[in-house]
Amino acid sequence: MKTIGLLGGMSWESTELYYRILNETVKSRLGGLHSAKVLLHSVDFAEIEKLQHQGEWDKTAKILTKAAQGLEKAGADFIVICTNTMHLVAPEIQAGIDIPLLHIADETAEEIVDAGIQTVGLLGTGFTMEKDFYKGQLQNNFNLDVLIPNEKDRGVVHNIIYDELCLGKIQDSSREEYLRIINKLAEDGAQAVILGCTEITLLVKPHHTKVKLFDTTRIHALKAVEKALKD
Ligand code: GLU
Repeated sequence: MKTIGLLGGMSWESTELYYRILNETVKSRLGGLHSAKVLLHSVDFAEIEKLQHQGEWDKTAKILTKAAQGLEKAGADFIVICTNTMHLVAPEIQAGIDIPLLHIADETAEEIVDAGIQTVGLLGTGFTMEKDFYKGQLQNNFNLDVLIPNEKDRGVVHNIIYDELCLGKIQDSSREEYLRIINKLAEDGAQAVILGCTEITLLVKPHHTKVKLFDTTRIHALKAVEKALKD
């Protein structure tokens, strides 16, 4: 089994989910007392979040590249960045290490294409919904059509992530807002919606909505196990 290197803490609320899914899946695949081989570098999210909102992406890239290099040195066989947003600096991180990085958008897009879906809605932080690093990857590499909420609703989605979900606050009123926005994306033509932030799955579950959801946290963690167990 390969050793999975996690870049986590962004936020730790979702890194905890990764850790659980990795171990539960290895246990169910291999049985008995088997568990995932994992190295975790967990950052102080307050430092990263401040730099994100100041637009200091170069500085976040430096911090995460150094962390990834540490994981490589410690024996990680590949890297998993436990956040969609910080894939904005995935190219810089990948350039700084000699082991592969399992890209969350690629892994999610493969599932969407396999499901025969052409048009998807995307929910995530403002950075993920608005900048090109994520949507562009889905559109250019996988030929998907990506819909995002209107400006006001993007603000709602973004603020709930930072003010509540990353702090472990799960509120029914926020779920109602997300479901309203998901339904609107479906009305606008989305055949499915990407939960493109690793904390959204704490708030919105498949049984809450008729629209098919692609949970990036689960998809990314399951693909990591697949890779870890492959020869
Ligand atoms: N975990 C979130 C994501 O998947 C948001 C936190 C962050 O900005 O990294 O995008």
